Amino acid sequence: MNIFFEWSRCIDGYQIQTDKINPETQIIIPKSNIYNKFNPLDSHSALLMQLAGIQTKRGFIQFANHNGLLFSQQKDTESVEAWKLYTKQMNEAKEALRIENWDCLIHYFNLNKLNLVNIYIDSSDNLLNIKITPQTLLQAIWWQFLETVSDGKNLEICTFCSTWFTVGPGTGRRKRRQNTRYSFCSPHHQGQFAYLKQKEK
Ligand SMILES: [Zn+2]
Repeated sequence: MNIFFEWSRCIDGYQIQTDKINPETQIIIPKSNIYNKFNPLDSHSALLMQLAGIQTKRGFIQFANHNGLLFSQQKDTESVEAWKLYTKQMNEAKEALRIENWDCLIHYFNLNKLNLVNIYIDSSDNLLNIKITPQTLLQAIWWQFLETVSDGKNLEICTFCSTWFTVGPGTGRRKRRQNTRYSFCSPHHQGQFAYLKQKEK
């Protein structure tokens, strides 16, 4: 399965403010109307695990600065309440994965996945590949998560920077050995961690 995805992000970042029409509501808004196109899945192999761990407004803004909004692209706003709801679902899916409660996982996936996703079969490299093109970042996050779980990849968290990433078949990374305590998202962070440990001695 291949996920094809392109998304927009405001290059000046995002901020939270009170909605003018509905003062009870806090919204996440872009700081300008300058956007760039990119694929958030390229730079992060485990976005659901990452977002599931975020519960603060500051965390939401940091996530949006890196990845854009969850379901709208340009000149749009999203409520903080909606982000809280979606991250709560992700957190529950993360826990369901940990305890291998597949029914719960499927339930959340079904809630978040399918609308407007295009699925087609591509034969460009002489093999038949299933390709999926999500329409929103929220969908893309769930499809990325499903792909990880269904392909038998594993998820690990970097000891140095707390970023989640995938390991196992097709990821180019080996699963952490059982007798090792630490995982790293990159050789660079492994080096940084070793350097700090060394300094502590
Ligand atoms: Zn790291």
